Amino acid sequence: MSAFFERFFGDFLQSREYQEITLSNPLDMHLHLRQGAMLESVLPFSARDFALGVVMPNLNPPIMTTALALQYRDEIVRLSKGLDFVPFMTLYLHENLDKGELTHAYAQGIRILKLYPRGATTGSENGVREVVSERILEILHVAQDLGFMLSIHGESNGYCMDREFEFLEVYEFLARTFPRLKIIIEHVSDRRSLESLERYENLYATITLHHILLSLDDVLGNLMHPDLFCKPMIKTPKDRDSLLACALSAHPKVSFGSDSAPHLQSKKYSASAPGGIFSAPIALSMLASVFAYHNKLENLQAFVSDNAYKNYELDSVLGDTHKVIKFCAQSWEIPQSIACENSAISVLFGGKQCVFGRISK
Ligand SMILES: [Zn+2]
Repeated sequence: MSAFFERFFGDFLQSREYQEITLSNPLDMHLHLRQGAMLESVLPFSARDFALGVVMPNLNPPIMTTALALQYRDEIVRLSKGLDFVPFMTLYLHENLDKGELTHAYAQGIRILKLYPRGATTGSENGVREVVSERILEILHVAQDLGFMLSIHGESNGYCMDREFEFLEVYEFLARTFPRLKIIIEHVSDRRSLESLERYENLYATITLHHILLSLDDVLGNLMHPDLFCKPMIKTPKDRDSLLACALSAHPKVSFGSDSAPHLQSKKYSASAPGGIFSAPIALSMLASVFAYHNKLENLQAFVSDNAYKNYELDSVLGDTHKVIKFCAQSWEIPQSIACENSAISVLFGGKQCVFGRISK
């Protein structure tokens, strides 16, 4: 695991004793809130720390229509009442989306289409069979004209460690074909994806907490840790370090997206473990700790809010929302899990110490 964890206590904490960190309107630009009992269990963690979350549509059934998106949004709003949290909805892109539905969605405030190649990850069974096909290109043409953004879980069906890299040609083809469509490379895991951002003005990216702190060694280098298994897979130390550097520098086209994706332990600890890491309870405190550790606190506000504010044009969405979250140097032990239904959901880095803690209001 990164040096960050090896020397978490001691000198570092003492040197930070009087430090306070203030963040304004933190935004989670990639979030899985699930549905039913799980939604109720996980939502408060994101709603407490973030002013807005981009809510992913891969439910069962997927959020394929505006009506479903609005119903889901209303439920999230109801369950997060009093927490000052804006759910920013996405629509699941599928072959039967037509201009009428897209126009309706846009009029209702939906701004992001989410594209899953079929079979790439949890809830992608209804995803797109062939991204570069006449039908999908037609839909994207309309989406570009209406002003949507396109969020993509970009993985090929090749060898698991090369899937994101192999998909880059699709990202670049789409970026060239639709120069006015903002396209988001979600949860970048391969350092070569960062080079594509430089080649195309309309390519953007989100980065998770786990991809900047872990490598495949942490997942299965010694004992195998199903809780750290996710899609896209956590890659090499070189990838991790490049992604970390990109996040710490608050690259203007990159924003934070936790990709917090809870699964019950009863499923995670099975012979067929689904991919997904639940990081919502620690995401913001841990980011504060990581940026402080690397002496880059001056870039945290941009990474976790300002970049997304600008790139996703969130002025009108957030209005006069002004959520201020403060942290101070106080170590706290991350809980191993939270209870859910008749099982539990493991929390990323459960049992470890987090250096910065939220100052509760
Ligand atoms: Zn995701």
